Amino acid sequence: MTEAIIIDGKEFSSNLRNKIAEDVKAFKKERSIVPGLAVVLVGEDPASRIYVRKKEEMTTAVGMNSLSYRLDANASQQELLDLIGTLNHDPAVHGILVQLPLPKHIDTPTILEAIDPDKDVDGFHVVNAGRLAIGTPSLVPCTPAGCMMLLEHTLGSLKGKNALVIGRSTIVGRPMAQLLLAADCTVTIAHRHTKNLEELCQQADIVVAAVGIPHFVKASWLKPGAVVIDVGINRVPVEDETAKAAGKTRIVGDVDFVEAAKVASAITPVPGGVGPMTIACLLNNTVQAARNLTSAS
Ligand code: NAP
Repeated sequence: MTEAIIIDGKEFSSNLRNKIAEDVKAFKKERSIVPGLAVVLVGEDPASRIYVRKKEEMTTAVGMNSLSYRLDANASQQELLDLIGTLNHDPAVHGILVQLPLPKHIDTPTILEAIDPDKDVDGFHVVNAGRLAIGTPSLVPCTPAGCMMLLEHTLGSLKGKNALVIGRSTIVGRPMAQLLLAADCTVTIAHRHTKNLEELCQQADIVVAAVGIPHFVKASWLKPGAVVIDVGINRVPVEDETAKAAGKTRIVGDVDFVEAAKVASAITPVPGGVGPMTIACLLNNTVQAARNLTSAS
């Protein structure tokens, strides 16, 4: 039995960030402009604080300006809208990211739609979702963009492949399906009401799992030689009883990785697969936005 190639998202994203750093250098030389990414955090959610800090550090590491904005957990929706309005008009800001989730009293769609679509480096604005759906260039949501890079790196052309996307969220499943369609795959989207998921999986050359359930996709569901992209990030208790009693956890994906690696031809691990691609794609989108904004003026 041959084991699958493990798709190394950590190495791929590190190479991508090096390339972005070169792009930033060239961009500064050509246009005397430093791309700027504004990151807005509302409240003190510990996981969000860690994500935001990581994004800011990586932005600076590739030579871009990182602009940080922190609002109190009780900040009003209007305060946040006012800040976004200011950032929309600030020529030093080429990308705007509002860290999600937002506090409950703030309406997330209203906030996302207040961001200038040309600065929407998360790709969540309806205009960018619409551009992606009709197949015109857009700022693409970072996680699916990263999955596509890993797939193209592994398979080359995706033309004619049967692709199954499990999950239909607006941040992962739907844009992922649109990207696969744009790459000439035949795409099936599964969700919690899908019947015969196992059979659908057995027909897929490419499986993208974005469900949020640990080890949901079983090895027996996979077509031998399939390429498996595991987007899931699930925190589960460790097996060791003493460590478990101490509350220790580990991260696993949506795919039963160990068994699936015996059937697939290539598979992303969790951690170290899709996860590291997301921030790299955010930086990539920011350079892209800076290019678009400064060539339009
Ligand atoms: P989400 O919004 O909760 O969406 C989950 C999707 O899975 C939904 O469409 C849901 O279907 C579907 N689903 C749930 N149970 C199912 C079942 N039994 N059979 C088939 N489909 C089922 O989650 P998300 O934001 O897309 O995230 C998915 C996973 O990816 C999570 O583990 C998340 O932490 C991870 N993630 C990772 C990254 C990264 O950077 N690597 C980024 C984003 C998310 P319905 O629509 O019918 O409810």
